[in-house]
Amino acid sequence: MADSREQLAEHLRFLGELGVDGFRRDRVWAGRPGERGEGRGEREEKPEVRSPEPEVRVDPVTELAAIRDDIGDCTRCKLCSLGRKQIVYGVGSPTAGLMFVGEAPGRDEDIQGIPFVGRAGQKLTQIIEAIGLKRDEVYIANVIKCRPPENRNPEPDEVDTCEPFLFRQIDTIKPRVIVALGTFAARSLLKTDAPISRLRGRVYDYRGAQLVPTFHPAYLLRNPSCRRDVWDDMKKVRSLLNGETVV
Ligand code: SF4
Repeated sequence: MADSREQLAEHLRFLGELGVDGFRRDRVWAGRPGERGEGRGEREEKPEVRSPEPEVRVDPVTELAAIRDDIGDCTRCKLCSLGRKQIVYGVGSPTAGLMFVGEAPGRDEDIQGIPFVGRAGQKLTQIIEAIGLKRDEVYIANVIKCRPPENRNPEPDEVDTCEPFLFRQIDTIKPRVIVALGTFAARSLLKTDAPISRLRGRVYDYRGAQLVPTFHPAYLLRNPSCRRDVWDDMKKVRSLLNGETVV
């Protein structure tokens, strides 16, 4: 017994030298390190470590087809009964890094069901190729999917009704850069009344992309002196696509 007391005293001195200044009576300290409470009904709650959720990206081909299905033979606004031949949805790569957005289909687009065909479309193709891309590597759409009569500007109620389809196209494709073609598209997307001459020359954050307004190719055909401005805008686009910072 005396030996045991002596051994215990020596053991306590030894623990004291290690800096252990006492014993806790808590049961969670009763086991060996790493065994606290284990097997005693007091299993330590360990925080659950979750790996970050991978971003679920819906297949853009399927989603773009689903949006087109939702549009159907749309009669949601009055343009459905004002002479349109067909809905002009969008064309190009469903995973494009660059998206062009125009105003509304014109006569040629209404006939063919494809945005930016005819002379303005050819000019747009030249612009795309000037920055080293092919037309089928970008995506092209309009704010409005049906041709307004006599090519008049779309009216506010038509824009409000139709633009959610464009937003869904943008959110599906997730382009890094969007080029707004012309006053109407730039104003509609940026929700402003400012003219294109004031809007262009700057880069805007828009729905996760960077938006560059520029002149409409049809305007460029009528005003060749704007070529320099459009080229400046497209050089910005090319820099943005290359990951460079543009102010
Ligand atoms: S413009 Fe848009 S909302 Fe109006 S009828 Fe055409 S698809 Fe529908």
